[in-house]
Amino acid sequence: MSTTSNILKKLDGMLIINGKLVAAERSDEKIKNPATGELVGMVGVSTAKEVDAAVNAARGAFLKWGKSLPKNRTRYLHRIGELIEEDSESLAEILTMEQGKPLKEAHGEILKLAETFHFYAEEAVRINGETIPNDSLHFDSIVIREPIGVVAAITPWNYPAELVGWKLCAALAAGCTIVVKPAEITPFTALAIGWKCTQAALPPGVVNVVTGSGSEVGQALVENKLIDKIAFTGSSEVGLRIQKSATSIKKMSLELGGNCPLIVTANANIDDAVKGAIRRSFRNCGQICIAINRIYVDHTKYNEFITKLASLTKSLVVANGLNNPEADLGAIASEDSLNKTKKHLEDALIKGARLVAGGSRPVGTELQNGRYFLPTVLVDCNHEMDIMKEETFGPIVGVSKFSELSKALKMANDTPYGLAAYVFSKNIDEIKYLSSNLDYGNVAVNNVDAGIINAPYGGRKQSGIGYEHGREGMLEYTNFKHIRTKFTSLDGG
Ligand code: NAD
Repeated sequence: MSTTSNILKKLDGMLIINGKLVAAERSDEKIKNPATGELVGMVGVSTAKEVDAAVNAARGAFLKWGKSLPKNRTRYLHRIGELIEEDSESLAEILTMEQGKPLKEAHGEILKLAETFHFYAEEAVRINGETIPNDSLHFDSIVIREPIGVVAAITPWNYPAELVGWKLCAALAAGCTIVVKPAEITPFTALAIGWKCTQAALPPGVVNVVTGSGSEVGQALVENKLIDKIAFTGSSEVGLRIQKSATSIKKMSLELGGNCPLIVTANANIDDAVKGAIRRSFRNCGQICIAINRIYVDHTKYNEFITKLASLTKSLVVANGLNNPEADLGAIASEDSLNKTKKHLEDALIKGARLVAGGSRPVGTELQNGRYFLPTVLVDCNHEMDIMKEETFGPIVGVSKFSELSKALKMANDTPYGLAAYVFSKNIDEIKYLSSNLDYGNVAVNNVDAGIINAPYGGRKQSGIGYEHGREGMLEYTNFKHIRTKFTSLDGG
């Protein structure tokens, strides 16, 4: 087992290229802990030469990895999962130090990452083909799946372990090799995952990690003709830029932004709905693509719902996630999220919303150097307000009331996004009506955990294309090949 400081020292200023930790030519970017402002470490700004070296290493490794026996890939994936479990506490500390979320959540994320390795280890041996009927008995058509080739994974900072893992594990299971480019502010989690792959003696070049800015390093991967697929998670704006700027034809999966509604009907269990709203609006400071941004409550339950929501929100503990085990919300990872939270708050208040919880920085000298904001609830919101129309990606939620379910549905669908929607109701007909008509890739009913590793997860409209999770998430890394063979009959038929 390795200690956190030993791992960070090992990864400081490093890239992972061709199975080795290599010192970046330039490593003058500081990574700071959002809870304290303290230095976590220095990170490399990959040069064009280093990006090319990583892509070439992945290209070279693909020749063998792409033809390797699935059961061998299974062994490697299980082994990496075990190594991650063994060092899960240190990896969680690194994640919290650079991202700010409470340690228990970071630890949960690392364990889910390990689970992803084990899940795709098992899927690697289940990549089957098909036999297709022909118009003559002398022909056989078989359709097989082959790995796409070299993948570039470009990931955000809100779930720096899982969002790398979903791409990395599925790609490796399918027989692809990969170059990972993590978000600027959370590189150490991705480097630690890459380092675990080298510890598992994965063949050199199968997994590479380059760090640096999106506009240079990310864009260089998008424009690299030796990359066969871009697996991107991030904002819709950057997703669109990536789609427009590719200079050669390549597959893309784009997991983008959300603006997720919750509908609470007259037949909902209000206590459950309030607990669900708290979890999915404020977990990870609301920095979740499937965060509940806006809530529509039946008018007969509105006052009860907002009173309980405000009261439970005020009881949440905002603290340094690394050293306070009671923390419900840690520091906000990104300055942009904090600024957008304040902007959406101000806009809603000017347009007539009422503030019933939060709305400012928490007090306390121990929090003064960190990027903190109290979980915030705005009520009496309407669709003139930005909070009901745009993704905030911060610890704030807007609530509105409705008198007809069809109008709630219309408002819930009134968005260019289509990632996840939530419903609380105990009425089977309401559940059927809403789950059938919500135009979202994921609908969670009477719970707020819209994704599980063995079911496909993806968005519609401006929330993206392609799927992660499940068997479907792995098949996104394969191409079909149709092999049609003519036989000469030996029995004269
Ligand atoms: P972002 O789009 O700013 O950055 C994501 C990644 O793209 C980073 O690694 C960044 O360096 C890179 N990048 C930026 N410009 C690039 C370019 N021109 N070419 C190539 N790469 C480039 O997103 P973020 O702020 O890191 O993350 C927050 C966003 O991610 C939110 O909108 C959130 O909804 C979304 N998200 C979506 C999902 C999902 O599953 N749909 C999951 C998590 C986060």
